[in-house]
Amino acid sequence: MSDVTEELRILRETVHRAARDRIAPLAEAIDREGVFNREVEALCWDLGVLTLTYPPEFGGMESGRGTALAIAVEEIAKYCAASALLLIIQAVGSFPIVHGAAPDLRNRTLARIAEEKLLVGYLVTEPGAGSDVAAISTTAVRDGNEYVITGRKCFATNGGVASLYSVLARTAGQGGHEGLSFFLVERDKPGVSIGRTESKLGQRGSNTTEVFLDEVRVPAGNLLGEEGRGFLLAMKDFDMSRPAIGAQALGIAEGAFQVMVRYAKERKTFGQPIAEHQMIRAIIADSATLIEASRGLVYRAAALYDQGADNTKLSSMAKCFASDSAMKITTDAIQVLGGYGYMKDFAVERMFRDAKLTQIFEGTNQIQRLVIARQVLKEFG
Ligand SMILES: Cc1cc2nc3c(=O)[nH]c(=O)nc-3n(C[C@H](O)[C@H](O)[C@H](O)COP(=O)(O)OP(=O)(O)OC[C@H]3O[C@@H](n4cnc5c(N)ncnc54)[C@H](O)[C@@H]3O)c2cc1C
Repeated sequence: MSDVTEELRILRETVHRAARDRIAPLAEAIDREGVFNREVEALCWDLGVLTLTYPPEFGGMESGRGTALAIAVEEIAKYCAASALLLIIQAVGSFPIVHGAAPDLRNRTLARIAEEKLLVGYLVTEPGAGSDVAAISTTAVRDGNEYVITGRKCFATNGGVASLYSVLARTAGQGGHEGLSFFLVERDKPGVSIGRTESKLGQRGSNTTEVFLDEVRVPAGNLLGEEGRGFLLAMKDFDMSRPAIGAQALGIAEGAFQVMVRYAKERKTFGQPIAEHQMIRAIIADSATLIEASRGLVYRAAALYDQGADNTKLSSMAKCFASDSAMKITTDAIQVLGGYGYMKDFAVERMFRDAKLTQIFEGTNQIQRLVIARQVLKEFG
């Protein structure tokens, strides 16, 4: 259903094989060590999955870019969610460049990213501004032909390994959605420094850091999109990224489901495989149903994005439903494995921890429900 073109079908097959053969064997160590894995990054560059959402001349797909991102993320997340996150944040961080940069800056930057294999971070969240993006206090002050950016960003995925950042800062006003603008900031600019690297519950192989911006000077041309319209650009980014988070959750759920069903067929209690017990069958049935429903929502939201149609409601539904489903399925997978599921020997324990993040980032599921309800109420006039 999602693999509507030959190009997308081949992408899924290629990424699936690479994830199964080359990322899966590393997943346990990536989680245990909690360190960003350069081998996986190199593989992702080789596969071309870090530029999927770019225009074709810079390594992107001819069409169906949102769907392509979801497919690649899903296939990798089946084995290693942290590795799949690499693709999402590259697309999210690049979005303001692809869709906001002036043509010359855009072409130069995307060419550089593709040629030099650069990672891109997305610096929006601050200690005092998470769900409430409008509370951002990082400032960008115009000084001649430059902007001077000062502030403190936190929870930046790839913050310590990216070479470029899309930074949301306040260019006008005291607060509110108006007056926020995106800027392209190079990591090696004077004034940029990396704070602490977070130690996390799950997706531990992804790099999450603070980033400090201390009077960082960027050319005025590094403004991405119109001044004061950064919030809208961030919202458009969500229309692409939320289906991708849904795809990540879907992949995690599918990975846990595989382990759950295989185990249920093998493990015997009371003289028969536990898959013969009705209560275990109910878990299998419910999990399979949630996975199918998640898949439907994720790829519908991605398809609408690719068509240029309004997908705000569907992308929030996809992200919220798939992540809640992944949390339930990974929890139930541990239950099906009993005491063994609670041990680190089986991947479901890791998947359970990895799933939790999908309910939190790119807008918590409380925020997704607010968005869905707002859209529904609008439809009712
Ligand atoms: C591992 C990780 C990676 C991340 N990567 C990035 C990144 O690369 N770039 C980036 O910019 N950010 C990133 N984030 C930040 C992430 O998007 C935020 O954590 C998220 O948006 C929530 O913000 P917060 O943590 O400040 O929670 P808060 O906004 O403080 O929310 C706390 C709780 O209150 C609830 N809540 C808040 N407002 C409402 C409301 N109006 N109604 C009902 N409930 C509400 C929330 O749902 C949540 O349960 C990352 C976070 C994590 C954990």
